[in-house]
Amino acid sequence: MFTITKEVYFCYGHRLMNHAGKCRNLHGHSVKASIAIRHEQLNEQGMVCDFADIRDCVEGYIDQHLDHNFLLHKDDPIIPMLIENKERFLALDEHPTAEVLSKMLYQHLKKSGFNVAQVTLWETASAYASYSEN
Ligand SMILES: [Zn+2]
Repeated sequence: MFTITKEVYFCYGHRLMNHAGKCRNLHGHSVKASIAIRHEQLNEQGMVCDFADIRDCVEGYIDQHLDHNFLLHKDDPIIPMLIENKERFLALDEHPTAEVLSKMLYQHLKKSGFNVAQVTLWETASAYASYSEN
């Protein structure tokens, strides 16, 4: 089994509703997502796939949905104020945690045809969350 890993970087703001600690406050992160793609066989170029293909797959998705955006739970009471002030945000059905963002990237890659093994999102230099389905 071969696995390759591509890292991508982006920024977002969020807050975690019902969180007892300081994550309930509006704040932001500059994160690294680490994307692992796995295949039993290499392609005719001797690769799992091109690193650039992984980047191209997630770059557009991240730009459109996550990067420099404000990620909120759909029931967050600040949403009407953001709408009123024409501020950009993304309302999620789930809480905008590193775990949920890992799952979003994983599912986008899978839907795009990649044999994705795992997505890990480093929220800080010492804390990360991963999502996989196996
Ligand atoms: Zn946070």
